Amino acid sequence: MKDNCIFCKIAAGQIPSATLWEDENFRVILDLGPASRGHALILPKEHFADLCELDDTMAAKVLPLAKKVGIAMMKTLGCAGFNLVQNNGEAAGQTVRHFHVHIIPRYEGGPKIVAWEPGELTDVDKQQIVEAVRAGL
Ligand code: AMP
Ligand code: ZN
Repeated sequence: MKDNCIFCKIAAGQIPSATLWEDENFRVILDLGPASRGHALILPKEHFADLCELDDTMAAKVLPLAKKVGIAMMKTLGCAGFNLVQNNGEAAGQTVRHFHVHIIPRYEGGPKIVAWEPGELTDVDKQQIVEAVRAGL
């Protein structure tokens, strides 16, 4: 547990939260500033700043849990789908440096929540990016 990390305290139950699920590794809570009705956050109980730090064993458990909660939301909240959002670093919009996954229910006719203007993949970019990222793997 990291000092002064609010999500460590919430995950440990030291700060009360609207908890949807809890097991030995994770707590799933409702987001206090929801993008849509039911917006939830998966928090590991152990502190990892972001995906780059996340332990691989824990990482392997995150998607099955997101799937479980997403399916329950579709059954019980009437959403027609859901987005998973996971921000890494301030530049990506991460405001709390404790790894978390957003589960955002999406309702028919609801507003766009996760969207971007598509650009164009140029031939030069294609070649340079493939070469650069492959070299970094
Ligand atoms: P991110 O921008 O990916 O770091 O997301 C942080 C999220 O945490 C935001 O959606 C906030 O609304 C949410 N949040 C911050 N503090 C709390 C809190 N105490 N309880 C529940 N959600 C929180
Ligand atoms: Zn933490």
